[in-house]
Amino acid sequence: MIDFHCHLDLYPDPPAVVREAKSRGTYVLSVTTTPRAWHGTLSLAVGATRIRTALGLHPQLLPERAGELPLFESLIPEAKYIGEIGLDGSAAHKQSMGVQTTVLESILSMVNRAGGRIMTLHSRSAATRVLASLKKFPNAGEFVLHWFTGSETELRAAIEMGAWFSIGPAMFASRRGLELCASMPRDRILTETDGPFAASKGAPLLPWDSALALEGLARLWRVDADEVAETVMANFKRLVARGGGAGEPGRMVYDHVD
Ligand code: MN
Repeated sequence: MIDFHCHLDLYPDPPAVVREAKSRGTYVLSVTTTPRAWHGTLSLAVGATRIRTALGLHPQLLPERAGELPLFESLIPEAKYIGEIGLDGSAAHKQSMGVQTTVLESILSMVNRAGGRIMTLHSRSAATRVLASLKKFPNAGEFVLHWFTGSETELRAAIEMGAWFSIGPAMFASRRGLELCASMPRDRILTETDGPFAASKGAPLLPWDSALALEGLARLWRVDADEVAETVMANFKRLVARGGGAGEPGRMVYDHVD
């Protein structure tokens, strides 16, 4: 099981979630929403060989957290994964799009200079803008569009740019989500939960609930869930083997897969 986008530090009892994920052997990319949460979130994963932590600055926290950019930059050398970063163009956040774009492009520029990282990106109602920003920094590394909800046209543009997609259970709840999943290349798909933000039946999703996304893909592709799990694991291995760095392909993050 792989949960490539999860907010471990935001669960009511993070150590309990870590213990359960360890005992189930779940691979987790634990994303932060602010660089101030980096060390605390990183410490949750001590001794958990399948949990990796990503350094993030969530677009929904802007402009308030824009002052944390220097801290973000200082932490990049110790972060192998970047996220959650991105843009949010929905009604509640579009008024900060200018600051969001400045911050995203500053981060991409820093990551680009640092040799690239694997990144997980938020692109709600802003996929075209996120792709335009990514295009300016071609050496920023491999990027995963998490919970992609753009148009078919935006999806095609993302695929053309080499995007990866992490899919959570919620994407199977609407026809549009299903159609997007159906159009994504099978060799570019990972699973996620976005827990605890994303919920199912009133309860926050837990990392191993990414199994629900495997089941959704199995129904969509008309294959059994084991076959989907194999495909997703192969994708995951290919992604982490590439690493984010142009200079050091593979070596940097391969330890995520045991
Ligand atoms: Mn998230």
